[in-house]
Formats: sequence, C-alpha cells, structure tokens
Amino acid sequence: MKRSVKKASNRVVNPQPYIGYQWGEPPNGESSFLVNRVGEELEITAAMPEYLSDDRPCDFVRKYEIARKNRSIGKQRTGKDSPHIRFANADSDDALIDFVRGFGPVVSKNWKMLPFDPRIRPEGAAESEVQMLMRAQQNLQELRIEQRIYKAALGLVVELVKRPAEYDFTSAKQWMVEIALNIQDWPRQWNREKKERGQNPLWRVRGDAMRRIAAVARSGPDLLLPPQVDARIVICELVNVFPLLAFPNPPEMHSYFLFGIRPLLYSVLRWEFLQSRDVSVCAKTQCRAFFEVERTGQRFCDEVCSRQHRQREYWKDHGKTARKKRLAAPIKHPNL
Ligand SMILES: [Zn+2]
Repeated sequence: MKRSVKKASNRVVNPQPYIGYQWGEPPNGESSFLVNRVGEELEITAAMPEYLSDDRPCDFVRKYEIARKNRSIGKQRTGKDSPHIRFANADSDDALIDFVRGFGPVVSKNWKMLPFDPRIRPEGAAESEVQMLMRAQQNLQELRIEQRIYKAALGLVVELVKRPAEYDFTSAKQWMVEIALNIQDWPRQWNREKKERGQNPLWRVRGDAMRRIAAVARSGPDLLLPPQVDARIVICELVNVFPLLAFPNPPEMHSYFLFGIRPLLYSVLRWEFLQSRDVSVCAKTQCRAFFEVERTGQRFCDEVCSRQHRQREYWKDHGKTARKKRLAAPIKHPNL
C-alpha cells in the first residue's frame, strides 16, 4: 500500500504530462508497423511500447504537435502532414493502409501478444534488449467507415470555424447525416471489445447520444436558435464518446487505446473544436482535401491545386478571345 502511494506522488512531481501516445513501436529495426492484408482484414504487427527512446515515430499526438509547430514557424507545405488531416483525407484503401502502418489500427477486432522471440529487438539495440510483439486485426470496411465519420466530423468543425454568414447549412446537415448513419456500428464494436478485454472499455457509447445525433441530423432549421447549434451538439456528443482521461502509469494509458487509436483521433478533434481556428477545405472542386491554413486567405491545399486554379481562371478570361482569333485567321495549307 505504502509503495503505491509513493509511486503516485512521484507521478505528480514528474513535469512530463505524458510519455507517448503510441499504439506500438516499430518492430525489429523497421521504420513503421508491419501490415499484412488478407482479403478485407489487415493484420498489424508492432512491438509493445517500451517508452525508452525519445524518438517516437508512431506517436499520433506527438506527430500532431510537430505538424502544428512546423506550421507556426512558417515551414511551407506542411498543411496536410498532421495525422488527423491525413486520416480525414485518406479516401483510398492505399492511403488508409499507409495510415495504419504509421499509427496502428483505428478500431481493431482483436488484440494479442505474440510468443516471445529473442531475435526481435529495436534498431541498433544490444543483445540483451528485446521487444515483445503484439498483433491486432483491423477490418478494412470498418476502417473506411471510420474515415468517413472522421472526415464528416472535421468537415463540421471547419463549418463552425467560418463566420456565421458563411456557415453552409446544407453541407453541415450532410456531414451530420453521414455521422449519424456511420456510427450505428459503434455499440456492437463496444460489446466486441468488452468481450475481448473481459471488462468494460473506457470509451462509452450511450444510446441517448446516438439518438440525439440522429435527431439533430434529421431536423430542419430552428426558428430561434442559430444554425450552428446543431453542429456543436453533434461534435460534442461525438467527442464525449471518447473522454479525456488521466492515467497513473504508462500501461494503463496504453490499455485505453490497445484496441485502436480512435480515442486519440477524437482527442485531437476535441482540441481542434475547442481551440483551433485554422483548418480549411481546398477550394478546388475536384480536390476538397482538408488542410491547415498556413497564411491568411489561403484557399488551396497545395501549390498544385493553386496553380491549376490560376490556369483555369486564365483560360476562362483569355480562352474566348484566343478561340475567336484562331477562327478568324486564314487557314494555312503547308503543302500548297
Ligand atoms: Zn487541393
């Protein structure tokens, strides 16, 4: 008893608020996790985090913070680097698998430790240092659905960032419907995780929250309240499924997202909703990717989209005149 009290007080004086929000560490000197696709299932193999190194390539929250920092010191073309933006933009299976390779499963069907193998160790480590391997299974269709929910949620946050006059009621309602439809599977996933763990998961999906999201998504404009209230309700209900928790030690913290990093994705969404005001959607119709705004008035996610837009605008202005000139010119017959 005495010992645990002492441990707890050590934690209090420790100035480091957390030591790493990573699902795993790259195994055996790799730079990311190992992902094996079998049909519609992804098998992800990683090492249990040891928290021994400061270098944490698969730490979701750290990567988010680095992306923000790089942006604030004016590094160009970092607007789509942040892991939450990457997930929202991951519209293809390849992009989703790439994300899982970097950060782990979002919601996994099962999780297990693999038998101990003395040959598995971190890159450049001494023979005495070994890694314990774990494996999780992520269903690809569940991953696609999670991406759609997250994209819609970030879309709503972007709407809420806009000035009231620019709030797009129709788009916001479409995002809400997308969320309401796709979270239907969450209660089943909660029960599956409970069965696998043998205890209640720490995230909590309440029936009345699900019903409230569905009702708000279906409702028309309110006569008295501002239209943004509905979007705020949906985002709050969504992020409150994954509460912000404090943990006394790394294993308990790691256990929270053992079955997938979804709680971390929503902790970043909560932060973006409460604090940030600088995510936008690319103005190029065929792109519509999310990006973090690097300078005031930025409308496009990158140089390519911006250049293509400028070219199109140029041809819109000059195309007509050029065509007229071409038609008016005498036809040349080089062979005569
Ligand atoms: Zn773009």
